[in-house]
Amino acid sequence: MILHYPCPNCGAEMTYDIKKGKLHCGHCSGEIALSSIIQQSTSWTAEGGTSTEIDGKILAGAEYHCPNCGGLMITKDKETSTMCAYCGAPMILTDRLTGKRRPAKLLPFQLDRQDAEKAFRKWCRNGRFAPKGFTSAENIQRLKGMYIPYWLFQFDTRVDISAQATNVRIFRQGDYQVTETEFYDIQRAYKLQYKDIPLGASRQLEDGEMAKLEPFNFNELKTFDMPYLAGFDSSSYDFDDGELSPSAKDKVRKYAGDYAQGAVSGYSTVHLNGHTVNFEREEEAFIFVPIWFVDYNYHGKVYKFMMNGQNGRIAGTPPTSRGKMAVWWAGISAVLFIITFIGSMI
Ligand SMILES: [Zn+2]
Ligand SMILES: [Zn+2]
Repeated sequence: MILHYPCPNCGAEMTYDIKKGKLHCGHCSGEIALSSIIQQSTSWTAEGGTSTEIDGKILAGAEYHCPNCGGLMITKDKETSTMCAYCGAPMILTDRLTGKRRPAKLLPFQLDRQDAEKAFRKWCRNGRFAPKGFTSAENIQRLKGMYIPYWLFQFDTRVDISAQATNVRIFRQGDYQVTETEFYDIQRAYKLQYKDIPLGASRQLEDGEMAKLEPFNFNELKTFDMPYLAGFDSSSYDFDDGELSPSAKDKVRKYAGDYAQGAVSGYSTVHLNGHTVNFEREEEAFIFVPIWFVDYNYHGKVYKFMMNGQNGRIAGTPPTSRGKMAVWWAGISAVLFIITFIGSMI
């Protein structure tokens, strides 16, 4: 099933406008607030697809027809929203966004296409070293806003810390200096709650790549709703909560270790024997986080530009054109030569 938002005034396809936080019609400039769409959701059409969700699993290779132009679309693996390849209409594949695969929350984009293009040009140093194709208008147009699947974990833990500590007191007694050492065996238990532990759930982007874009500010999470996806790519998770839970727990063990290091204080010396972490309660939520993305194949290698759609943090390495680098160095040495030459004349 495909959901899209034809403009009530002119019928053109509406997309979500990041700066306005509303659906916007590029044709007649009509706008609709999300709150009114949510109320009217039954009047919007979802049509033209085959059901692909069985028991929370997505079947690959499902075919959909664009409700705007009728064009046939073969979906990519876990795709949940995209633009029609023929007419550019936003398409939201609602049957892949049901049950467990419906995100509980989403971080809406704060930075729009203009912001992303500006950051991309700056990142390429305005094309000084990058090959021509990379900074071409055509490539910049390929920049797309994507929602990436994440799992957010929350744990209630009991952390037991065992330590030995001493208190040393030095004082004079007659002709003697006395050193008095008190020894303590310390056992402490803490109830610690760890919130918003994020784990990337997409195979398309490696966890390390996404980690460079973090942190995301999860205080700004909004309840998920379909209109947020109008005009953006998104995909469902490749890894479910069960698969990622052990990695989330590893993160918590590390945080608990850091906590244990500083937990016992107020003594002359502290030696930590160790700590144990017991997980007493676990909760998880499937969410979408926003990035701007473009990849580029240059001399057989894929280069990626990725920008956090919330705070503008950037990851990736731009390709450098050897020809352009050589010209730049030649330019520098010529300048140096001239300066030296004038210097020696004076
Ligand atoms: Zn319109
Ligand atoms: Zn179309």
